Formats: sequence, structure tokens, C-alpha cells
Amino acid sequence: MKRIIAMSLSGLLLMSCCNSKTPHRPAHHTANGFQNPWLREQEPGFGDMIKWQRTSERESLPDTEELEYLFPIVSPDWEAIRNPGAALQVTWVGHATLLIQMDGVNILTDPMFSERCSPFRFTGPKRYRPLPFPVDSLPPIDLILISHDHYDHLDRQTVRALGNAPRWLVPLGLKKWFHKQGLTNVQEKDWWDEVVYKDLTIVCTPARHFSGRAPFNRNRTLWCSWTVLGMNHRIHFTGDTGYCPVFKEIGTKYGPFDLAAIPIGTYAPRWFMQSSHVTPVEAVQINKDLQAKRLIATHFGTFILADNPVGEPPILLKQAITEAGLKDREFILPRHGETFILP
Ligand code: ZN
Ligand code: ZN
Repeated sequence: MKRIIAMSLSGLLLMSCCNSKTPHRPAHHTANGFQNPWLREQEPGFGDMIKWQRTSERESLPDTEELEYLFPIVSPDWEAIRNPGAALQVTWVGHATLLIQMDGVNILTDPMFSERCSPFRFTGPKRYRPLPFPVDSLPPIDLILISHDHYDHLDRQTVRALGNAPRWLVPLGLKKWFHKQGLTNVQEKDWWDEVVYKDLTIVCTPARHFSGRAPFNRNRTLWCSWTVLGMNHRIHFTGDTGYCPVFKEIGTKYGPFDLAAIPIGTYAPRWFMQSSHVTPVEAVQINKDLQAKRLIATHFGTFILADNPVGEPPILLKQAITEAGLKDREFILPRHGETFILP
């Protein structure tokens, strides 16, 4: 009996020691990295990753003619890009890369101009639609927002090509990686941190995702969305995310937004993807939560990173838009290279 009591006591002590939170540590910080504070039980582990790789069912890529029909490449409005006015201007390069011009500042999000999103040049997901223009055609860039370190969002070759002239804003833990690339014009931010750049206030806002560029460094660096507040416009760049309640909080705190760039294209199978990637239906819900007047779809039509057919995300988005009762002017399904001038 004494032994049972002693064991129960030591068990209780152990539990209380493990349950006691370190004071002042935010819920998304851990002793050796970061975590999502919402619905963590839904997150798949390494075994699930292997299971997905083994059971993955993908349709083959449509032929070139169909791809050209589904995802046309257009020429950007260079005249507007080189002489931006007071309006908000957005050009979609492809995937999560956007050139955003607002309040006299040229901003790039998650710049990716390489052929493959991979640690290797010879293997890994390959671009199935070409770049609408090369990286050296860009106007001078003032600010670059990085959402996380996955290869489709943080590309070494592109980072080196853009260099140290722009100010890089990155989530916690990534500064060291930039220093290794020889870049020092980098500011590292935690969720809810604010940065002032000219007339803009940029906020590192949360997202529900994960990080890692190798099996051994999962969640060692932070992931985020970015909120940009200007004198005349407010925009939100969601990065990669699963659905979670934080977007309502961002909307209440910083909305309404003129534009929200939200991913729509990497969602199947749901049992594996739902904690880190939204469906088009959830993208529309996030747009609503953010109180955004307009959604621009990203993270589709460029790389195959999930099991959903490549042509499906735009169809599901249009259905979701109709079902939500939104009007044409309230969402943008961009073509690669297309420039939008928004009032
Ligand atoms: Zn990612
Ligand atoms: Zn991604």
C-alpha cells in the first residue's frame, strides 16, 4: 500500500512538474522551438507523413495545352508597376509570390523564382507553369515578407538574387539562415510584433502551420502571416495556414482589410493536410473572419504539393464564392503575371 501511495505521489509530482508552464512563455513557444496553440491533437506526425507518401493518389498532370488553358501566363502591367500611383497594386508572380505596391513601398511576399522548391536542383517539386518574368525584371524592392522556411516559400537562389538591399522581415529563428547567405538587412519577429517602415506598420501575425527544411529541424523556426497597415490601405498575407480562430482576432484588431492573399491549392488528403492547409471553402471563411473586402487566391497553379488535382482549386473557390453570396469584385483568381490596380 505504502508503495502504491509513494508511486502515485511521484507520478503526481512528475505530472505537476510537466504541466507547470514556464512563466512568461507564450503558448506558441516551446523549450526547443514553436507549436500551434490551437487543436494540436489534429497534427500529423512523421509516421503519418510516411503513410501519406505510401497511399498518395495523384492524377497525372494535364497536357501542356490544357495547362495553358487552366493557368494562362500574362504580361504584367509594367507601366503601372514602374509608376505606381496612389492605388493599391498587386501582381501575382505565381504560388505565394506577390508584388504588392502600396503607399510608395514595393513589397514582395515569399519570393520564389526557381524551377524547383527543393533542397536539390535535380529533384523535388518542379514548376509546371513558367515564371511570367525573371527576378531581375522586378522594380527596386523595399520590403520582403517571409512567412516560413518551407522550400516553396524560402528559396536560397531567389534570396541571394534579391540580396541585401531590401529589408527582409522574417519570423523568429530565421535570421541565422539569412546570415549564412550573407544577408544582414533582416529583422526577426514574433507573433504580434510590429515594425514601422516609412508610412507602413507591418505586424507579424499568427498562422496555423509548421516549419522545417529537414526531418531533424521541424518547428525550430516560427511561421506567420503578415498584416500591412498603410495610410490608405490595409492588406493581409496569410502565408500557409490551416483554419483556426486567430483570423477573427486579426480581423477584429486590424481589419477591415482592402485585400487578403489566401492560399487555396494544397489541401488533399484532408486527414493529413487539414491542420496546416485550408480548402477553398476555408479560404473564403478566413477572408470573412479577417473582414477583408477582397480575397486574392494564392498557392495554386504552380507546384504540385498535395493530392488534389491541379485544376480543382479554382473550381472549388468559385463554388465557395457563389455559396457565400460574394460578388465578382470581392475575389480575384489571378493569372500568372497579372497586375491588379485596386481603388
Ligand atoms: Zn508550408
Ligand atoms: Zn506552401
